Amino acid sequence: MVMSSTCRRRGALPAVVVLLLVVEGSATAQRARAQKREAADVPEAVEWRPGPYADLLREAGDRNVPVLVSFLPREPSRHARVRLGLFQSAEFREVSARCVPIVAMDADHPSAGGDPTAPCPFFPTIRCGDHVQMARTLFPIFAENGVIYPPVHLVLKPTGELQERIENSAKQEQEPERDEKIVRAACEASKAAGPGLDRGEYGKRIAQLREADTALSQDDFAKAWGLLQCIREEVEIGALPDRAAVAEEAVCKRAGEVLDWADRQVDAGEIAAAYDTFRQIEAAFKKTPLGSRAQKERGRLERGKDTGPIIRAHKIALEAEDLLRKAEACEAQGDVGRALRVYEQILERYADTPAAENARIRVKTLRGQADR
Ligand SMILES: [Zn+2]
Repeated sequence: MVMSSTCRRRGALPAVVVLLLVVEGSATAQRARAQKREAADVPEAVEWRPGPYADLLREAGDRNVPVLVSFLPREPSRHARVRLGLFQSAEFREVSARCVPIVAMDADHPSAGGDPTAPCPFFPTIRCGDHVQMARTLFPIFAENGVIYPPVHLVLKPTGELQERIENSAKQEQEPERDEKIVRAACEASKAAGPGLDRGEYGKRIAQLREADTALSQDDFAKAWGLLQCIREEVEIGALPDRAAVAEEAVCKRAGEVLDWADRQVDAGEIAAAYDTFRQIEAAFKKTPLGSRAQKERGRLERGKDTGPIIRAHKIALEAEDLLRKAEACEAQGDVGRALRVYEQILERYADTPAAENARIRVKTLRGQADR
């Protein structure tokens, strides 16, 4: 700028100086535009991930995608250049979706008001506390001789192993070249890793894995087994099928314990409870050793001289209960005529069951209401 005023006074601008002025002028305009955009809180389109780091490495392995780490300088004007340049570029946004993108910066953004739990004003998918914590976690892993001169960008393989490190550019005019290098390195890492699972699909599968875990904790074997089979059969990429296989082992172990429990129930004379358990396991684990074990034990109870009659009575009670539920549903829908017919069916066919007791009470009540 000093140079330009001197030149103007002289009244003659050599071509080289004019060129410099144009470049300098456009850079100033760019900065002004950048600051204006910063003030307007340009929405961040990269889905930065909050951590902890170990979870993100697991996600990378599960999805078979690279990890992209951006260490940012804490000075606002310096990190703004990366945010408004590289992070806004279509190329970076596109490749970041095929990676697990992590931002690490060891200071809060002052506009966050010093609240580490509030969403970060510049990276809305995370909190300031997340990028501060990420910087603390990653510094000891990636510092060289105890220092990092941010911005530094790392491309890691899906295993977390360092693939490429792109250091700070000393001069501003080298930044576009550096940015290209970052995008290229990320694209190459993604290509080298092979097919990856996109985040939407991954989210769906992780939800299934969690649902299977909850189902297992409730001994809902059919649901847990079904969900895990679904992951194993439909997901062909990354580590998720292996994790589903491990979870399947846990389900089988628990189902084995429940079958052992049912065997003890038989010994204790709790035939109906044991029978229900065998049926449940048989239905959940079709065409597996657990399923055939349950099937055999169920058959034994049905054919047993002492247990056979108990099972037949129990089955009748179960059928009566099914009908009772049906009648109650009709009543809930306001179809009193149909409910009455089903209740009477229970009284005719299953007179000696507990369900018949309930049916009798309902018939009396409904008829009483009709008479009034
Ligand atoms: Zn922040």
